[in-house]
Amino acid sequence: MREHWIRFIVTTLVFMFAVLAIAHAAPQRVDGNFSFEKVIPTMEVLEDADGALNFDTVRTSADFRTAPEGGTNFGFTNSAWWVRFTLANPDLGDRHVILREDYPLIDHLDVWAPQRDGGWKHTATGDRTVFSTREFVHRDFLFDLDVPSGTERTFYVRAASGGPVDLSLSVYGPHALIGALSGEQLAYGAYYGGFIVLVLYNLFIFLIVRDRAFIFYLLYAASYGMYFAIHNGLAFEFLWPDSPAWGNQALLVMLSLTLIFGMQFTRTFLDTGSFARRLDKLAVVTQGLAALGLVASFLLPYSKLILPIAILTIIVVSLIMTLGTLGLVKGYKPARYFMIAWGMLLVGVLAYMLKVFGVLPHNMLTQNGFQLGSLVEMVLLSLALASRVRELQRQSRTDTLTRVPNRRHFDEVSANEFERTRRGNGALALLVVDIDHFKQFNDQFGHARGDEVLQQVAERLGNGVRRGDHVCRFGGEEFALILPGTDGSEAASVAESLREIVASTASSDAPVTVSIGVASTRDREFASVDELFQAADRALYQAKDQGRNRVVRFTA
Ligand code: GH3
Ligand code: MG
Ligand code: MG
Repeated sequence: MREHWIRFIVTTLVFMFAVLAIAHAAPQRVDGNFSFEKVIPTMEVLEDADGALNFDTVRTSADFRTAPEGGTNFGFTNSAWWVRFTLANPDLGDRHVILREDYPLIDHLDVWAPQRDGGWKHTATGDRTVFSTREFVHRDFLFDLDVPSGTERTFYVRAASGGPVDLSLSVYGPHALIGALSGEQLAYGAYYGGFIVLVLYNLFIFLIVRDRAFIFYLLYAASYGMYFAIHNGLAFEFLWPDSPAWGNQALLVMLSLTLIFGMQFTRTFLDTGSFARRLDKLAVVTQGLAALGLVASFLLPYSKLILPIAILTIIVVSLIMTLGTLGLVKGYKPARYFMIAWGMLLVGVLAYMLKVFGVLPHNMLTQNGFQLGSLVEMVLLSLALASRVRELQRQSRTDTLTRVPNRRHFDEVSANEFERTRRGNGALALLVVDIDHFKQFNDQFGHARGDEVLQQVAERLGNGVRRGDHVCRFGGEEFALILPGTDGSEAASVAESLREIVASTASSDAPVTVSIGVASTRDREFASVDELFQAADRALYQAKDQGRNRVVRFTA
């Protein structure tokens, strides 16, 4: 009795599902108003676990099921996947529509279309066969489907691949297809145009500034751009249409190169060896693994390598983010742009990865998020490079011991201020400060203690002047100060207060004093900033002669 009930329930359920399946599998109308339809709602799927079924068996098979709700991205799979769908043309005129599969990396893609004579037209293509096997010259797979007037036609598709089987079939009317393709081609043109411009632009910048980070950026961007060109099917169409084997391998090669150069760029850009030695070593290890992947791509099939390389990609990206964060914590300004850039990419990578493994559905955003993120990343990294150049420039104008601007900065700023003063009606004063008997100090207390004194003096001079004044280390134990808008007597009183600060703040067991020479443009018609400086320097010598620890003002 119980058995009877169970059989009843099962039969009912099967019947209900069958009705549902039929309802879903209702033919897609392709009448005069038809423009575009994702095939999914009307299609049925059959899994061919060992890929051994032939078309005649499949055609009469009762094992077709309604396509899963989540779509037909089957992820990594050893099965072959059969799909069938029916198109109905109720019109008086015949119709041709175009079937499109928009994942161009499927290894083997076959389509069977019924012919008017009752036979079948079989098109066998995929990215494992030469490009010329395609009906249409296009990066995606396009197939012409003939639906004569007043008929229903059922079409069959078979897909099998070492990579993910991401079936994303749609049917277009010819007008709709032309509209869609022209829009897409424009978008790809803009995208790759952006990459090419970034690569060339940064190449030129490299030729000028000669910073190695630019070269690694170039290589990173170039291999990354190439990776996407393969991914989009454009590289196969335009670069190597007759080399499908290389086409499949090239994806792994470019991915490995992208990891190697992306990491090398990061290491150079952030100078990771200087603040995170261990992680930097780990970074070298990941580069080694990527290089191994590159070599392995010549020996092992795509399907064996794509997963390890995908995992390595996640490790590399995490490591880069960690290094960037450390750089940020360290207060390295260009790391900010660097982190924003990688953040943008990361969002895209995550969306895409989840799509590849079948967690997220295949749509415009998941399919292209990675790619869009990458261009945004490249633009921001270019900005980060500009910021790095600025930082390097700033460093080249900063004294490493005392952290105040160096002589290069002094020469430039003093010359500018001198010109500005000459044009206007203001005054400009220079102070030359020299530590007294510093050689003796070093001899007595040691060089390290001397260095500390230089740092302290620099700090006190900096605190003792006004905003807009410049304290520079001119060289050795000599500082030069630029005081814009200051005449001789004002400058002399600033100098006197600086002298007092230094003398009074030194420790009593190791006294430090300075002598200061002062000159101002108000004291004489100086022809150049050099003359003004020489005047202040001469005043300094007088201060030394008069017994040191004093201020002498230049007088004409
Ligand atoms: P004077 O009062 O005439 O200026 O005597 P001085 O000994 O200060 O002058 P001199 O020019 O003969 O010697 C400058 C000394 O400054 C020599 C050098 O050891 C010291 N010095 C220069 N640069 C540094 C530095 O970066 N660190 C330390 N610790 N000492 C320095
Ligand atoms: Mg000295
Ligand atoms: Mg000296």
